[in-house]
Amino acid sequence: MTAPQPRPGIMTMAPYVGGKDTVEGRATVMKLSSNEGALGPSPKAMEAYAKAAAELHRYPDGGCEKLRAAIGRHYGLDPARIVCGAGSDELLNLLVRAYCGPGDELLYSAHGFMMYPLNAKGVGAIPVTAPEKDLRTDVDAMLAKVTTKTRVVCLANPNNPTGSYITREDVRRLHAGLPRQVLLVLDAAYAEYVSRNDYDAGVELVNAAENVVMCRTFSKIYAMGGLRLGWMYGPAAVIDVMNRLRQPFNVNAAAQAAGIAALDDVAHVDATRTNNDIWLPWLTAELTRLGLQPRPSVGNFVLVGFGSQARAEAANAHMMNDGVIPRMMHGYGLGDHLRITIGTEDEVKAVRDSLARFVAQP
Ligand code: PMP
Repeated sequence: MTAPQPRPGIMTMAPYVGGKDTVEGRATVMKLSSNEGALGPSPKAMEAYAKAAAELHRYPDGGCEKLRAAIGRHYGLDPARIVCGAGSDELLNLLVRAYCGPGDELLYSAHGFMMYPLNAKGVGAIPVTAPEKDLRTDVDAMLAKVTTKTRVVCLANPNNPTGSYITREDVRRLHAGLPRQVLLVLDAAYAEYVSRNDYDAGVELVNAAENVVMCRTFSKIYAMGGLRLGWMYGPAAVIDVMNRLRQPFNVNAAAQAAGIAALDDVAHVDATRTNNDIWLPWLTAELTRLGLQPRPSVGNFVLVGFGSQARAEAANAHMMNDGVIPRMMHGYGLGDHLRITIGTEDEVKAVRDSLARFVAQP
């Protein structure tokens, strides 16, 4: 008798491993491995979360009515065209389950977010990568990889882990080159950190097309990754598909309450963005001065090149020993890089000091 076997493709997936949050032998650390908001969640969100505890015996609102209304108000969107999820991870996964099947292709940029290939493999679909130019999504290379089997194209914009973004014109060009039956997923997890005139998170394109969705999250600038809350804006037909496929109570009550309060605390989000606007360029300049290769980033993290995998691993060990935790990039084929979240002033200065000691070593 053979043991039960999973569907083909699943055993080719490596389990996702999140950023480390401890260093053996150290009581306190600076966790800069998961791109979490530097200032933590809004105090108003924490208050709403605590208040929700009194109602834990109640099922949540399965349709996230109030939360969708709040998102709609905040971003100027039609709440009927929003669906919420347990993190944008859930929504990205549901989209692939809905639109990709065995043998279909999911296309993404070579150093795109690593959940895209995992989602594809989970349904027996084939992840296809397009080469990048200087660690940037290359629209022409993406379009060259489209085949009759392509069903979904995922674009993180800004991209994690490279920190690069492509302009609204390039996103439009990508969309214009895709067959209409291909779904373009714009993953804008870091959109709130970008303040560039030539950038659009995806709203314009979703409004103009039948085959584009935009995914957003409360895990990054809102710093509520622990609650698992994300949302998607898309054409009514895609929202309908998602509502059929999702679990009935996929977003818990505390997350819904905290999400509404977080949206309301505009000052907290502004402070988080300002922190990033100050310390991202500062850290980038400092690391360049140390002879390292930080990539230009518009997110709340910086990808740093060390020249070789051995040196990146040594730098990782050195930082960990100092209680500063970066993220190794082997999973992205970028083993010679580390990704470091932009934290508070104390945290970015600890990164700089640790790496200054590292490069000064004989
Ligand atoms: N997309 C990108 C580009 C990300 O970096 C992340 C978080 N690592 C996610 C989606 C998922 O975020 P969450 O599920 O916490 O909303």
